[in-house]
Amino acid sequence: MYRRFGSRVTVVEMGPRLIGREDEEVSAAIKDILEAEEIAFRLNAKCVSASRRGNGVAIQVSCDEEPREVVGSHLLLAVGRVPNTADLGLDKAGVKTDDRGYIKVDDQLRTSVPGVWALGDANGHGAFTHTSYNDYEIVAANLLDGDKRRVTDRIPTYALFIDPPLGRAGMTEREIRAAGRKALVATMPMTRVARAKERGETQGFMKVLVDADTRCILGAALLGIDGDEIVHSLLDAMYAGAPYTVIQRAMHIHPTVTELIPTLLAELKPLG
Ligand SMILES: Cc1cc2nc3c(=O)[nH]c(=O)nc-3n(C[C@H](O)[C@H](O)[C@H](O)COP(=O)(O)OP(=O)(O)OC[C@H]3O[C@@H](n4cnc5c(N)ncnc54)[C@H](O)[C@@H]3O)c2cc1C
Repeated sequence: MYRRFGSRVTVVEMGPRLIGREDEEVSAAIKDILEAEEIAFRLNAKCVSASRRGNGVAIQVSCDEEPREVVGSHLLLAVGRVPNTADLGLDKAGVKTDDRGYIKVDDQLRTSVPGVWALGDANGHGAFTHTSYNDYEIVAANLLDGDKRRVTDRIPTYALFIDPPLGRAGMTEREIRAAGRKALVATMPMTRVARAKERGETQGFMKVLVDADTRCILGAALLGIDGDEIVHSLLDAMYAGAPYTVIQRAMHIHPTVTELIPTLLAELKPLG
């Protein structure tokens, strides 16, 4: 955002790549997209410090790699959040928290004290508006409708609002490998999507992973134009528990980005 406002921007990241929770090709593609906008990166920045330099700030980003510092007018810190629970007097009420201050809850968001529930970021089960709202739905359903909805019913999903956006649903390839699941994978660059070409927005790619036995979709990363919207077509099939072949055989509207999802699914191959 600041780059597009005209600032010269350097991102200083401690990890070896951006967005470490995503698969490596997602991190690499996002770095390429941002570098094309002339944003600079200093990865593996573990030796970091900051000091005043004139009217601005100097950031040491490395102890051995030159240049060792980045100088700028402003420093924006985005180093994670902690739950704002320390001053609530939870201990006095007997509501238990974990080591990081998140309120401990069960699968229906009940705390350690009967009659007290914890919703939203404070319970550590999500960090999004949609997870907070889903928390409300779970508690309301259990309390008011006798409907035993649970946190574990939901499929992780989020969007990363860079341009073009990343839409993520379910598991990453790394998580699938770690779980030892047999899977199929398909990847398609956005350069193959006619609608993306027509709109002059061909950066990114779409990637889907399915369970090799059940044929159900395990996860998807759609990094490309409207990826934050299109991912819901896969997410809804995941909630339906439907095999991917249902979408593969569906007739989609031309010319849209979503029309390429059946083609993408037709190209699934065993995960090597
Ligand atoms: C910059 C930024 C961008 C984001 N973008 C997105 C996004 O694009 N999509 C998305 O899904 N999520 C996004 N999020 C995350 C999203 O905002 C949070 O996950 C969501 O707001 C959590 O809802 P909540 O109700 O748990 O907490 P909050 O929305 O933080 O609400 C907590 C409320 O409790 C109040 N409060 C705190 N302490 C006390 C107290 N002692 N007494 C009384 N009141 C108190 C606070 O003032 C606040 O109003 C973003 C967050 C940030 C910071």
